[in-house]
Amino acid sequence: MNLFNRYCFIGCEKSFEESETVIFGAPFDGTSSNRPGSRFAPNKIRLDSYGLETYSPYLNEDLTEKMIHDAGDLDFTFGNKHAVLDMIKEYCQYLVKNLKKPFMIGGEHLVTLPVVESLFEKHKDLVLLHFDAHTDLRVDYIGEELSHATVIRQIWNFLGDNRIYQFGIRSGLKKEFQWAMEEGHTTINQFGCENLNEVVSKIKDKPVYVTIDLDILDPSIFPGTGTPEPGGISFKEMLEVINTLKQLNIVGADVVELSPDYDPSGVSTAVAAKVIRELLLII
Ligand code: MN
Ligand code: MN
Repeated sequence: MNLFNRYCFIGCEKSFEESETVIFGAPFDGTSSNRPGSRFAPNKIRLDSYGLETYSPYLNEDLTEKMIHDAGDLDFTFGNKHAVLDMIKEYCQYLVKNLKKPFMIGGEHLVTLPVVESLFEKHKDLVLLHFDAHTDLRVDYIGEELSHATVIRQIWNFLGDNRIYQFGIRSGLKKEFQWAMEEGHTTINQFGCENLNEVVSKIKDKPVYVTIDLDILDPSIFPGTGTPEPGGISFKEMLEVINTLKQLNIVGADVVELSPDYDPSGVSTAVAAKVIRELLLII
């Protein structure tokens, strides 16, 4: 498996062998429906992570005291999404086999699918926590079943009912909401994350995967994304979410959908890097 590493996320310099968590980038944006560009996120986030400290005063924890390795980015063949998904899955299977927790930086949201597939092979009672502005529950998007707009539906295909909890959701088709809420296939928490505590106490003994589509944040603090959706949560609410997740047995996580070039101020990239630092510190 080819990986390349231009920069390393700040404070994540442990070797692969000694690490418990392995960061890798999935620079793929081949199915972005609105504005592509998330392929540039992983390395931009690493570079701008040097504007942060390794220490989090929120959590009173330091990245340099954690066993985290940054493996670089998977070296994708562009233009073939099946090959890309296969590569991610193969790499995650390798991480799981070596008892490492995968921590992926996207890329668009479709890249979450193969990571969850590989963890499901090991954890048959896996639960998914999905933070996003969008439902991502379409059966297909303009005829394509594999897309960043269908990724959670694809995951439901093998996880099934009562395993997927969605937060911050404020956009989707009427029939997606009906399928989720009326038919009860997933639990949708609309607009915010108020019910997170309740969900966390319910799934405390389960292996959990956390996927954060950064467009859950309000575009006023996070405009650098392919499909900005007004009405999102604040950065402080995001910090509260991460603090609440601390209680869980998180077996893998990802942060997706930063498109750094849509925010030339660099603030969106700084936000992404800080979300990643906080999340790395609690898993
Ligand atoms: Mn999404
Ligand atoms: Mn989204």
